[in-house]
Amino acid sequence: MDSITMETLLLRHLSTKMAQDIMRTLIRVTFGTEASQLSALYFLAFSNGTHGLLSQFSSSLNGARELRIKGGAQQIALELSVKIGKECIILNTPVTEIEQSENGVRVSTRFGKIYRSKYIIVALPPTEVHRILFNPSLSLKHRQLLQRYPVGHLTKFIITYPKAFWREKGFSGEVLSYGGGKVERGCDAGPISATYDATTHHGHPAIVGYMASKSGVQWNSKDTSCRKQSVLETLSYFWGDWVHDPIDYVEKNWGEEAYVGGCPTHGMSPGMMVWFHQIRTPFGRIYWAGTETATRWCGYMDGAVQAGERAALEVLYKFQPQTLTAADLDVIDLQVRRSSFIHPPPDPHIFRWTLCLPLFLIAMGWAAYTLRRHFWVIGVGRIA
Ligand SMILES: Cc1cc2nc3c(=O)[nH]c(=O)nc-3n(C[C@H](O)[C@H](O)[C@H](O)COP(=O)(O)OP(=O)(O)OC[C@H]3O[C@@H](n4cnc5c(N)ncnc54)[C@H](O)[C@@H]3O)c2cc1C
Repeated sequence: MDSITMETLLLRHLSTKMAQDIMRTLIRVTFGTEASQLSALYFLAFSNGTHGLLSQFSSSLNGARELRIKGGAQQIALELSVKIGKECIILNTPVTEIEQSENGVRVSTRFGKIYRSKYIIVALPPTEVHRILFNPSLSLKHRQLLQRYPVGHLTKFIITYPKAFWREKGFSGEVLSYGGGKVERGCDAGPISATYDATTHHGHPAIVGYMASKSGVQWNSKDTSCRKQSVLETLSYFWGDWVHDPIDYVEKNWGEEAYVGGCPTHGMSPGMMVWFHQIRTPFGRIYWAGTETATRWCGYMDGAVQAGERAALEVLYKFQPQTLTAADLDVIDLQVRRSSFIHPPPDPHIFRWTLCLPLFLIAMGWAAYTLRRHFWVIGVGRIA
């Protein structure tokens, strides 16, 4: 299954074009990528971690869209920073290099500051992990995996209105589109992949939507007013002319964020699932968190929490195993528990002593043996 893409799977198993297009659109919105770029096995594993395909798009109980956060998702980071203590959080300091030895970890940052610790948890998206220099370098399998685990593309837009006209007309505000609507030169399809009702808890009406994947990249070459015009015209096909009178239209192209690189999540290319466990296998003193290392709701905030808790327990297991409960131990990968310390690849200096030194001694012994008569003569000569 890992040798085929989702596109192949859809063509094999879905008999109508409409069913195929719905799945292609859902993949665009969920991964920001095309079905033809995504491993079928990865998609199935991803869906397994979300209790099935439908819950990824569902607003009902346990669905991905069940809950919204009052005041926006940044509330989580802001509240956590108060709990942790702002003085413990270092912002605007990108990590450039992570070096580890038998004694600890040394982290270098872009502006020259160095940090040291016994262990480190790296909680970055795979594309950003790949930009960091590791010394010793990560295993070849891990590096190959990172190279073939790209992030998708979404441009998000929010349109605010004086009234939620769509509700008055009996619409939910949800649109799923395989590129219908107004097409501009250089774009294969219309701009919209999906929209949702994003009316705030204060009752300010809004629609949120996405320009996703290849089509989103193509529309990115147009200017904002052109995109806005096309988005509104496309929405008017679904809901009528009132969509042309918004209060505001704002966009966010997540591909422009230097340390995020794309949106909403990563999608694996075919052929790499055999090494997928590398994504969370500790490497010496380096432990891995971040939503892409989660086994449940991978790519979502829930997955990021699961991965963070698991990585913290793994480090605690090395530090203070006596503090862990039986339930904690269940969370830790068996592999981590079996090895008391998973060593990084040997330091190159080790070769100097384990390989070069014995060879040097053998060579010296051989030279002494073959030249022994010569030395003896010289010695006798000196004595004489
Ligand atoms: C537009 C959008 C909408 C989304 N909607 C939802 C949603 O509705 N529900 C949901 O569950 N999930 C949603 N997600 C996904 C969710 O945001 C992620 O799953 C979650 O943020 C992952 O958390 P994380 O801690 O793994 O990584 P991130 O939140 O990506 O955090 C990684 C951090 O590492 C930093 N970083 C990167 N490189 C370096 C470096 N070299 N040195 C130091 N720091 C670095 C980054 O700046 C970033 O702050 C959405 C994502 C996007 C972009």
